[in-house]
Amino acid sequence: MALRKVLQDPNPKLRKKSRPVTEITPHIHELLDDMLETMREDEGVGLAAPQVGVLRRVVVIEIEDRVYELINPEIISSEGEQTGREACLSVEDRMGIVTRPKKVTVKALDRNGNEQIIEGEDLLARCLCHELDHLDGILYIDKMIREVDPEGEEGEDEEE
Ligand code: ZN
Repeated sequence: MALRKVLQDPNPKLRKKSRPVTEITPHIHELLDDMLETMREDEGVGLAAPQVGVLRRVVVIEIEDRVYELINPEIISSEGEQTGREACLSVEDRMGIVTRPKKVTVKALDRNGNEQIIEGEDLLARCLCHELDHLDGILYIDKMIREVDPEGEEGEDEEE
């Protein structure tokens, strides 16, 4: 495993649409492993492949000691609404308030190519939406209602 460099806004690669994975090769396994290591190193809860410069539809998330590895993820349903703080490893030293669904259901492949269904609520739902947006070149700052001070009392230390 190796750490990868996390691209910073306004890098143009962060604005590209990522392509689906057509074959799960050892290369993709290495990417997943490196992404998890990089995310942990930077104390994030989620990371999308374009953030490390790879324009493929691959995401890792780690919330409450559970690791999610998502290949070609798609939101198949969503419900409700939540409004809260969000940050991003590719948008350093900033934080904003974003409205997201309260609950989402995501379909994706796992590292063995098996289909998995993930039902996320609250933070996991927010994180899934944030990471899937990265695959279409969308950053949370495009959607934020207002910016908040990451050092302020409202701040949280979760980065996605
Ligand atoms: Zn992000």
